[in-house]
Amino acid sequence: MNLVKPLLCGMMLAATFPGAHAFSQESALHWYRGNTHAHSINSDGDSAPDVVARWYREHGYQFLFITDHEYLTDPGPLNALLGAKERFLLLPGQEITQWDEDPKRPSAHVNALFIHDVIFPVGTRKCVGLGCGAIAPASTLLSETFKANIAAVLAQGGIAQVNHPNYRWSVKPEDLYDIPDGTLLEIWNGQGHINNLGGGDGNGDERPSAEGFWDILLSRGKHIWGVGSDDSHEFKEPGVSDPSGAAPGQAWIMVRAAELSPDAIRSAIERGDFYASTGITLEDYQANTKQIVIKIDSQRSGARYRTQFIGRNGQVLQESAGDSTTYSIKGVEDYVRARVTDSNGKMAWTQPVFVHRGSF
Ligand SMILES: [Zn+2]
Ligand SMILES: [Zn+2]
Repeated sequence: MNLVKPLLCGMMLAATFPGAHAFSQESALHWYRGNTHAHSINSDGDSAPDVVARWYREHGYQFLFITDHEYLTDPGPLNALLGAKERFLLLPGQEITQWDEDPKRPSAHVNALFIHDVIFPVGTRKCVGLGCGAIAPASTLLSETFKANIAAVLAQGGIAQVNHPNYRWSVKPEDLYDIPDGTLLEIWNGQGHINNLGGGDGNGDERPSAEGFWDILLSRGKHIWGVGSDDSHEFKEPGVSDPSGAAPGQAWIMVRAAELSPDAIRSAIERGDFYASTGITLEDYQANTKQIVIKIDSQRSGARYRTQFIGRNGQVLQESAGDSTTYSIKGVEDYVRARVTDSNGKMAWTQPVFVHRGSF
């Protein structure tokens, strides 16, 4: 954990803000809805890539990464079929499927976004059905396999997303201590058996929520961005064969960018100019050196909203009800992020604002 530094008289505040540049170009920026985690029959999904892409296009999304296990679906033909300027864009991705020799830790999955060649995880290749992954040697720490697989993504100029840390209770926070800044963390996965909220086994094994993983990493000084994504597999009859749900449309990100292009979406994600959602839309989100302002689009739902501003170690710094709220930055927080929850259980998460402290 970061040391709590004393508040010094004359302290200088320096802060980095997602989308801080937006103030001068506000009118030129737009929100685009996208999903960074979806499967097709190129691995264990139930539908062809064009069916998957069409589902998202027809349900209010502007971009999609199809992220099959150890398979890179070429977005070119799909963009020729379904892409449209400022309407819909397919982007390249895969899920890197790391298995472990220890069957209790079978899963360390990392999405590779914006890559151009398929990546195989470290270790001995193992194929099950259509899916191929690799088993890391028992002597290799999970933290090392994460680092190696993320490094392979970055070597291709891609963005890495650590998926569902509580799936099969495979990952512990310390396994992620060494992941590089700029990595995405899936704080909400749309499937119903992923253990997003964490829990204990009654015998002392307590796991934080996926969001709790985020706070642990942020409190250690990591600059990690939180995403919500579907991990969708079922498009034919969503929820029928698997009631716990690998259906699409569960969780997504809203990215603020100048245009719907690979470069603009990539740079907005890189600078954290986006928020995650399971159903709440923000009318506006602004941050400057003094405050964070959130306005919730509440016109359609009739729901009520609670906004919590969260800082070091997951501490709730401020809580308020209603459609709009402002947080005044004190300068001692290390980071401040917001979580909005509505009266139906839908949520949205803004990216952390980092407050770097120093003294004269
Ligand atoms: Zn996975
Ligand atoms: Zn997946």
